[in-house]
Amino acid sequence: MEDSCRAAIAAGVTEIAITDHVDHVPADLGFGYYRPEEYLRELDRVRDLFAGELTVLRGMEVDYNDSTIEEVSRFIDTYADEYDFIIGSVHYFSDGAMIFPDYFAGKSLDDVYLPYLDQVERAVETGWFSTIGHLDLPKRYAPLTHRDYDPAQFRERLLPIFDRMIARGIGFEINTSGLRQTPRTSMPAGAIVRWYADRGGKIITTGTDSHAAQTVGAGLPRTLDMLQLCGIESVASFRNRKATLVPIATLQRQPA
Ligand SMILES: [Zn+2]
Repeated sequence: MEDSCRAAIAAGVTEIAITDHVDHVPADLGFGYYRPEEYLRELDRVRDLFAGELTVLRGMEVDYNDSTIEEVSRFIDTYADEYDFIIGSVHYFSDGAMIFPDYFAGKSLDDVYLPYLDQVERAVETGWFSTIGHLDLPKRYAPLTHRDYDPAQFRERLLPIFDRMIARGIGFEINTSGLRQTPRTSMPAGAIVRWYADRGGKIITTGTDSHAAQTVGAGLPRTLDMLQLCGIESVASFRNRKATLVPIATLQRQPA
């Protein structure tokens, strides 16, 4: 965490929520690994260490899956009050299969995306989460397996999900890891952001999905520019899972 905070400061970041994965699907490499007490202790240590330089928030990225609702519900009941910010992410299909290129074999894009988005919608309806992580994660592999991938194919399915997000005060994350990986665009990218903004959505966070300090802050300036082009003027900042909006203009580095 300390290295990540130093990297954040070097990248010009002023606020960071460190959102370690919380996994309840047994197939996940991180299953059984998360130790909330140790996380919170270390988080508070670095928060004090960097006070005045960087705001460090208590966060987590919780896997949502239809097969583990009871476990996640118990976890959220026990710990949510300790956290500023909770990302809810779908990483698996409801049968526990991973969203890897193999899963796409013999399936249409609809076969993959629509059940994925059904789970995203149910994650929104739980009300457990501040934002939804990497909203169109299958895109990480879709361009490799289905060359005709186009997000517009899923617009009609996304719009009612956006309406539920807006009604519930839940947003989504722009995950910049896509910029440095296969899809070469953020997850989601501009078109989807524009549909959400046109619907009246305002709660957007940015995340780098950094699993190492080297990528903390990567792609953020570009992402803030993209958001403004899509009609989003603020990003959300969370305390105790309540959002306030911070104007993007105050976060961009001024040209020298
Ligand atoms: Zn994730």
